[in-house]
Amino acid sequence: MFPSPIPGQTPVYEDYARCIHCGLCLNACPTYRLWNLEADSPRGRIHQMIHVELDQQPITDSFVDHIDKCLDCRACESACPSGVEYGKLVEHARARIERDYPRSWLARVTRNFVFRHLLPDPHRIIDAARVLRFYQRSGLQAIARGIGVLKLLGLAESERLLPRIDDDFFFRRLGWAFPAAGPRRARVAFFAGCVANVTFSQLNEATIRVLTANGCEVVVPDGQLCCGALAAHAGVRDAARELARKNLSVFLRKEFDAIITNAAGCGSTLKEYDHLFSPDEPEYTQACTFAARTRDVTEFLAAVGLTARLKPLPIRVTYQDSCHLLHGQKIREAPRALLHAIPNLDFAELPYSEICCGSAGVYNVTQTETSLELLAEKMRHVQSTGAQTIVTANPGCLLQLRAGAAIHRTNQEVLHVVELLDRSMRP
Ligand code: SF4
Ligand code: SF4
Repeated sequence: MFPSPIPGQTPVYEDYARCIHCGLCLNACPTYRLWNLEADSPRGRIHQMIHVELDQQPITDSFVDHIDKCLDCRACESACPSGVEYGKLVEHARARIERDYPRSWLARVTRNFVFRHLLPDPHRIIDAARVLRFYQRSGLQAIARGIGVLKLLGLAESERLLPRIDDDFFFRRLGWAFPAAGPRRARVAFFAGCVANVTFSQLNEATIRVLTANGCEVVVPDGQLCCGALAAHAGVRDAARELARKNLSVFLRKEFDAIITNAAGCGSTLKEYDHLFSPDEPEYTQACTFAARTRDVTEFLAAVGLTARLKPLPIRVTYQDSCHLLHGQKIREAPRALLHAIPNLDFAELPYSEICCGSAGVYNVTQTETSLELLAEKMRHVQSTGAQTIVTANPGCLLQLRAGAAIHRTNQEVLHVVELLDRSMRP
């Protein structure tokens, strides 16, 4: 219906028309809950998108603002009785903005650098991580915080959300294979992420230990790159497609029982690689095969069953659903089932665990104030559970919740599900 030169699959009129304006998504939407504004609700955003697609409305500053303020958390999809695939719609709107809207010079340069130069290139990620590590370890960070220069530059809040850079980068594991402990039950490929290689090496190592302890041979294919989720969510479709092409060639070179990720945000995009290509493109069939093979680590472990011995962990934990696991991949039970398998674990459900913590990819950097508001609300709910440990299933959520525990001085430890399993499997 709508002619659109945006590459890959693009929504058709029926995708928008599926919204029957019932409003059942409103209460699930974090931005609507904050501001009570129709224009910042799923229904209101879809309404604006239709006008832009029908050329009844140009891409205005106001349209861009409402679309930028969306977390792309997809909670509205879970709430919608009409099957609106909101994620597809908002990513298309962002691709239109990227193509047709003149963002400021600084925004264009930054986006170009991050999505087209930094994230697709492991060497640049390593260089940037080394600079950041020097800043964090040399005392510069303490000085910058102490003399208030960050406040002066308006960067104080964003700087607190920066991840701590690892001493040892997981990049060195690319090309390695790890044998299964005991009889092999599966052979899987591990998707290591991009920035996770320099900020979540311990999580990646724990994921490999848990998989191998449960009878999986784990291969970490060399040549893999960033999944492209951040680029796709930001509307930088060409960069996402280029990364997908590379990952398809790397991961489909050999047969694996599954392609495993421990990052819900990456997994959601990896499972939708076919959306980045139209059915008449040569990559489409490969993307469908790749998507069908991809599993979140919690989904995979819950399906094959844990065989490793688990020792009791007598601590109270609560679980924050990662949006792209719950709403993007519709996985709710698997992480909970794994946590319930740990003896003596005292599990307390988190009220409103299905509402975004405010991390949302780069949202905590681009919309810091809103992100921190959502985080403050989240930490209030966490406190009500009395949990000493917050568990989640996505590196972005881990960072955000760790920042929440530090900012609000609540002192909880924040772990990924597999890190807690790993702890319970250690002698
Ligand atoms: S719940 Fe679905 S159909 Fe109803 S207003 Fe929201 S998006 Fe539209
Ligand atoms: S994706 Fe999240 S923030 Fe965006 S409209 Fe849907 S519920 Fe609201």
